[in-house]
Order: sequence, then C-alpha cells, then structure tokens
Amino acid sequence: MDFQPDPGLDAFRQELRRFLKDKLPADLRVMPTFSRSRREAVARWQRILTARGWGAPYWAAEQGGTGWTMQQVLVFDEECVAAGAPTLDGFVHKLLGPVLNQFATPEQKAAHLPPVFNGERLWCQGFSEPGSGSDLASLRTRAVRGVDGDGEHYLVNGQKIWTSHAHESDWIFLLVRTDPEVKKQAGISFLLVDLKTPGITVRPIRSIDGAHHLNETFFDNVRVPVANRVGDEGAGWAITKFLLNNEHASAADLPLLRHYLRQLQELADTPRLGGERLRERPEFALKLARLEAEVQAIAMFVQRVAALETAHDPLAHPLGSMLKVRGTELQQRLTEAQVEALGDHGAVAYPHPDDHDAAAHEPLPQQALAQGMASQMFFRRASTIYGGTSEVQRGIVAKLLFGL
Ligand SMILES: Cc1cc2nc3c(=O)[nH]c(=O)nc-3n(C[C@H](O)[C@H](O)[C@H](O)COP(=O)(O)OP(=O)(O)OC[C@H]3O[C@@H](n4cnc5c(N)ncnc54)[C@H](O)[C@@H]3O)c2cc1C
Repeated sequence: MDFQPDPGLDAFRQELRRFLKDKLPADLRVMPTFSRSRREAVARWQRILTARGWGAPYWAAEQGGTGWTMQQVLVFDEECVAAGAPTLDGFVHKLLGPVLNQFATPEQKAAHLPPVFNGERLWCQGFSEPGSGSDLASLRTRAVRGVDGDGEHYLVNGQKIWTSHAHESDWIFLLVRTDPEVKKQAGISFLLVDLKTPGITVRPIRSIDGAHHLNETFFDNVRVPVANRVGDEGAGWAITKFLLNNEHASAADLPLLRHYLRQLQELADTPRLGGERLRERPEFALKLARLEAEVQAIAMFVQRVAALETAHDPLAHPLGSMLKVRGTELQQRLTEAQVEALGDHGAVAYPHPDDHDAAAHEPLPQQALAQGMASQMFFRRASTIYGGTSEVQRGIVAKLLFGL
C-alpha cells in the first residue's frame, strides 16, 4: 500500500484553502456541530458551493456532482471542518442523494435533486421505531394502498423514534410496511414524505448532551402519493441496505477525528493556571501519543478503503462496519480526553453552544476552545449506537470476514 503524498492532492488542498479563505463569510464560521439551528447559514454555504460547481461534493459527475475521488472528498471535508464551515445536510448529501441517483424515477429526481443545490429542502431519516432499531426489518409503520379522486396513495399509520432533526426538516425518507403477509424484509417500501402533510406530529426528545436533536414522529392517516415511492413496492429493503452501507462508511468521520485531536493538542500545549502544560505530564503525553497514533491508523485505513473503492462490493465486504466501529470508539475516547484535559473546567463547558439560555460561566483560559466540549463528549456516547450499534457491526464483520 503506497501512502506517499500525492502532489495533485496537495494542489487540490491549496485550491480549497484559497476558496475557503475568500468565499466562506466570517459569520458562517462556527464550531462544527450537528445542529441545524443555523439553517440559513447552511443554505447560504450550500449556494456558495453550488456557485463554484461544488454543490454536490459526494456525488459522481454524471449525477451532477463534483466527481471527486474519495481522497479528494476527504480533503474537502477536512478543510471545511478546519475552516469552521457549516456542515451540509448529510442526510440528503450522503444518504438519500445516492439512493435517488441510483433508484429514483426521472420525475423524482427532477423534484428532489434541484433543492439540494440551493439548500432549500432539509431531510431527515425515518427508519427506527420503538422496538425496531437493530432489527430494523421488524418495523411496523403501516402503509395501505388506496385510490381516491386525487389518485393512488398510501395511508400511513405508525410511529418513528430517534428521528434526528425532524423538527427542523422539510421532508422525511421513510420505511413503511406495505405487505405484512410476506417475509419481513420483502414487505418494506421506501417513501418520500413532505413533513407538512396533515397527520404528522413531531415531539422532541432531549438528549444527554443537553440539546434537542432527536424526536418522536407520529403518523396518523398520512396520505402519501404512490408516486413518492422510490423503487418497486416491497423493494425498500434492498435500498435500505445500499443506504446503510454508505452510513457506516461515513460514520468514522476522519475530518472530525482530526478536529478533535487538534483541539486536544491545543489544550495540551496551552499553559494552564500556574504555567504548566499538560503535554509535560508523562501520563497525559502517553495518552495523547496513543490517540495521535490511532487517528493516524484510521487515516491509513480510510486511505485503504479509498484505494479499494472501485474494486470492492460494499454489500459483500464489511469495510464500512469496520470503520464505523473503530472510528466511533475513537470519537468517544478523544472527547473524553478533552474533558479530562479541562480538569475542573470540564463541567462548566457543559452547556451546548446552541443553548441560547445557557448561563454565564466563569471564563476559562481556553474558553472559546472549551465551549461545548463536554456536550460533544456526551453526544458521542451515541456514536456507537446510531447508524447501527457497535455490537451489530462486529456481528457483520464476524459473518462477512470470518464466516462465523
Ligand atoms: C443520537 C441518535 C440519533 C439517531 N438518529 C436516527 C435517525 O435520524 N433516524 C433513525 O431512523 N434512527 C436514528 N437513530 C436510531 C438508531 O439507528 C438506533 O438507536 C440503533 O439502530 C439501535 O437500535 P435501538 O436503539 O432500537 O437498540 P436495540 O436494537 O434495541 O439494541 C439494544 C442493545 O442490544 C444490542 N443488540 C441488538 N441486536 C443485537 C445483535 N444482533 N447482536 C448483538 N447485540 C445486539 C445492541 O447493540 C444494543 O446494545 C438514532 C439514534 C441515536 C442514539
């Protein structure tokens, strides 16, 4: 495996840095979080990227995307995180977009792809239900087909849970049971639903990081045109497997790991009260060195996946699952080390930056850096759960790699 620096990639990185310096407005530079409370900021940033021809950085050129290699995408993500650019809507860019490009009708593409480029339509993911998470195929939200004066439609009834950002999204991509009589995987369909449709109720779930990302989403006789189904009726499971593999592969989030590591290094190198630097303490220096080596190991792993991207069949090889397990566990250890490095100040770094009512606290030596760090640590407890738990990913690796 050749890990020599690629001069072409370096020129690309320099081009991105120039672009970010010139075009990313100062008021859009924020700490990267999962929040969309700055929805307008995300839309503005999306339009700036679109004007440059980079509106769909993760898609192939024939799908209206940049056609970048996986290495270029990694550099793009890394430079955007480092510059504090708003996080694009990952649900549509990384999950739904590839599904639409692969499985949607020309009419569906015409309806749903253009809004991606102007940032007008935000999406959320309606898969999990109470009782159906890891065993997603057991889902019970029911869609019954009918016809009336307005044409063919499904009547949807049921409940989704853990629906991230449903309260600030416009549309939801939804898994429903269209046939309860067949094998459970064969009775599932994939629908696109406008969240303004009557009968949909979104209720907040407050999470351990103190923020509101999560929701329960209820469907009470929600009428969805049959034309909003992606793929054939009953073909939703194949689409789901395609989508989930993309979710696992992007879950390691190397740019975020590097961002957390840089923050930790900064904490370790900043003199604390009394002038001591944490890096001078042997036990912390050892911990930091281990974390640096592990981020580097993930980077090499990601490079390897990038090199294999054209060759491997994503559904036959557990690369995405392997990356998800290692990457998300490292997210947790890095954020834990950050809070440990803050010492007594860890607790005051708790309120989430999006909590506008957060009380005023004693300033820290590294106040700006520490802001929201403990929230991130708490939020990262969820990384090894969402998108498929670590236990389930390990099961996939055991089955596909070792035939267990
Ligand atoms: C922050 C966050 C955001 C989320 N966002 C979304 C979203 O936007 N949309 C959405 O649809 N869902 C979302 N989810 C839901 C997420 O996908 C589920 O939580 C996840 O799939 C696990 O399902 P569960 O919670 O029902 O746990 P369960 O499946 O009930 O698992 C409980 C425990 O049993 C273990 N377990 C289960 N099956 C196995 C097995 N076969 N082998 C070994 N161990 C097993 C699990 O590892 C876990 O420890 C989100 C979750 C979180 C925490």
